[in-house]
Amino acid sequence: MTTIDREEPDMHDQGEPERMRRFMERAFPLCRSITGDGVRATLDLIAEELAPAAEALGDRFTWERHEVPSGTAVLDWTVPNEWNLVRATLDGPHGRVLDTDDCNLHVVSYSVPVDVELDLEDLRPHLHSLPDRPDAVPYRTTYYHETWGLCLDQRTLDGLPPGRYRVRIDATLEPGHLSYGEATIVGRGSGDNGSSGPGEFLVTTHICHPSMANDNLSGIAAVTEAARRLAAGGPLGHTIRLLFIPGTIGSITWLANNRDAIDRITSGLVVAGSGDRAPATYKRSRRSTARIDSVMARLVAARGGQIVDYYPYGYDERQFCSPGFDLPVGRLSRSLHGTYPEYHTSNDDLDFVDDETLADTAGLIVAAIEAVDREPRFVNTVPHGEPQLGRRGLYGSVGGAITSKSDEMAVLWLLAYSDGERSLDDIAALSGLDRAGLEVTAQSLVDAELLQPR
Ligand code: ZN
Repeated sequence: MTTIDREEPDMHDQGEPERMRRFMERAFPLCRSITGDGVRATLDLIAEELAPAAEALGDRFTWERHEVPSGTAVLDWTVPNEWNLVRATLDGPHGRVLDTDDCNLHVVSYSVPVDVELDLEDLRPHLHSLPDRPDAVPYRTTYYHETWGLCLDQRTLDGLPPGRYRVRIDATLEPGHLSYGEATIVGRGSGDNGSSGPGEFLVTTHICHPSMANDNLSGIAAVTEAARRLAAGGPLGHTIRLLFIPGTIGSITWLANNRDAIDRITSGLVVAGSGDRAPATYKRSRRSTARIDSVMARLVAARGGQIVDYYPYGYDERQFCSPGFDLPVGRLSRSLHGTYPEYHTSNDDLDFVDDETLADTAGLIVAAIEAVDREPRFVNTVPHGEPQLGRRGLYGSVGGAITSKSDEMAVLWLLAYSDGERSLDDIAALSGLDRAGLEVTAQSLVDAELLQPR
């Protein structure tokens, strides 16, 4: 992969990493799941962080917390009952074994309420631990199967004496709502009805995980910070739509309820796992050649990151890229999910996330959106076979004409890749040619009516 050598602007202001850390420290203890008051409290914190954006942009900024009733049919799914945890404890012959007031990973998310006494052998099937990581509490869920469970570290489990145990899971699982947050920064290009203009850039992140920092408070913090930065810069041409949604059921719910908005999405990013110390990873959209794919390939490669092809597991890109929608939405992460040992355990704590890395992810989101919005693009008007250049006066001594081998190469690269998706910056990266020279040549091709600005 060749990259162009351009000066990167400073991607964050002075207080940004500290602000993101403070946000994560406040949101970390909340007991989030795919529904419930922990989600709502998290959305309230996000709204607080976005208040300066709302103030700066007036009616060009909107924030809405949606509440979708349990039982609502969404695509092939149904919005589940709402789960709220008060507290879960386990007491044994020697006293208290665990308490969700210490760590909310101790309860399997969506456990049904119980208050029961039982022998250790009958309790064991409900206990979850990680033999390979004996000091960590695992993260487990049971969204769509009614049962209950507790999670603890292997060392504690190994030390449990035989005898009677009392399990108390004080929780409710009953009809309620699925909550998600949606912010929009309305673009300059949008008409009053929001239907015209260059379209929408979608940024989404999942808010359903309880106390884990990289997965996914980091994604929430990075997207929130990116929104603040974009708002401070004033509206772009694109409308930017930011979704803070529970994983899977949240994106399915949004897609089901926003069929009219989907056609306006020209690019998008799913942001998750944004703060561990690994270089950035970009996962291409299912289309693989969308505008966002070219932009991210270039930006991530310039930072020493990796680009991976689409595959049908991971986070909400699975829904946005499902064949019926096939949206131009890729995913931005650091380490790939599941590949680091702290993943889905209590070791994914606030120390696992690096402030500078997180700020870099926020900067990448902003850079991607600005690139999609601002970089010049063209469409080849004679795309079937190569156009005959000689009869258009492109060879010769007139200004802007092809007078050197590099000019000829610029013409060939511009004609080959001006598909309306790739920009001059992308073509410079692909070809290794100087961007300024490409811009001059592009203008002469526009004058010759071989390229049309997009
Ligand atoms: Zn996860």
